[in-house]
Amino acid sequence: MSEKNIVLIPGDGIGTEIIAAAKAVCDVAFEKANVKVNWIDKKAGGASIDAYGVPLTEDTIEACKAADAVLLGAVGGPKWDNVDPSIRPEKAILGLRKELGLFCNLRPVKIYPSLQEYSPLKKELVQDVDFVIVRELTGGIYFGEREEAQGEGANEFAWDKETYSRYEVERIMDIAMETARKRNKKVVSVDKANVLASSRLWRKIAQEKAATDYFYVDNTAMQLVVNPAQFDVIVTTNLFGDILSDEGAVISGSIGLLPSASMGTGTALYEPIHGSAPDIMGQNLANPLGTILSAAMMCRHSLDLPQVADAIEKAVEQVLVDGYRTGDIYREGLKRVGTTEMAQAVIERL
Ligand code: NAD
Repeated sequence: MSEKNIVLIPGDGIGTEIIAAAKAVCDVAFEKANVKVNWIDKKAGGASIDAYGVPLTEDTIEACKAADAVLLGAVGGPKWDNVDPSIRPEKAILGLRKELGLFCNLRPVKIYPSLQEYSPLKKELVQDVDFVIVRELTGGIYFGEREEAQGEGANEFAWDKETYSRYEVERIMDIAMETARKRNKKVVSVDKANVLASSRLWRKIAQEKAATDYFYVDNTAMQLVVNPAQFDVIVTTNLFGDILSDEGAVISGSIGLLPSASMGTGTALYEPIHGSAPDIMGQNLANPLGTILSAAMMCRHSLDLPQVADAIEKAVEQVLVDGYRTGDIYREGLKRVGTTEMAQAVIERL
């Protein structure tokens, strides 16, 4: 029997409910696959501020580093809106990215047939949508030098610097190519090489790595709306990936359903793409499927359990086909359920 160590970080808001739901699903899936799991509970974000005065402790960092994977709910909420900026809950996510060397964010965008009507795009455009955005996460303009506004009047100015090094681009391209090998083998590298020097280096390396195609970011933003089904793997910079992955998310019609993975040199971290939804916390209203699908990604990418990942993903798809819906994706005539009932419905289909 294989044994895995997974750090579980519920975080804040609906985090506790969706992580409990995902753990319940995993416990059954792992038992069926004869895998023993040690769950290690840790705090981060607001919950950690309340308990220890900081959003991320050394103890949580060390536990994450030593584990096979980290599954996180979400952090933040109005309760901590006025804390000192140096200890804001979001610092926990940035801290984990840095400590675990998470330079790559994987965001799959798949539209289940039973949910096509939720997309703001026409049904015929979204019926074959199934792609992954591979976003560089620790470089580029978000981490470059900057200077705040200075000078006066019409000459007041500020600047941010976009830098990419060869090793940063090569390693993200390698992940994109590897991701494509397990899918439909098509990588579109996205840049702004007609204007930016950093993008010209990005494109040169994408060509060396033999990406399938090279799009400018403005064209990509347009193509995601007019023909999203053409994409398999999109690889792009931190800034462009931030914007395009939100565009991808909205195409699917529900943020409650989308998983994500952040990976790099250390332990990988899995979390749903949505936040802590404080408006619905503690009411058994949260959609747990994004977190359950994040757990499936964890099984595939970090635990070497692709059969468990497949089983969880199939069960989720079946639950949707069978008409189970949390409030965020409910339509008349379907079965309205809460967070725990949704998890139970997935478990019954495993
Ligand atoms: P949000 O994603 O938490 O919520 C946006 C809307 O979507 C809300 O109406 C919410 O009820 C709904 N929603 C989100 N997830 C849902 C789910 N699983 N099921 C049903 N409905 C869901 O974004 P926000 O309101 O902008 O942010 C709330 C807090 O979350 C803020 O403190 C923000 O900083 C934090 N946040 C954290 C992360 C993270 O931990 N990675 C990401 C984004 C936002």
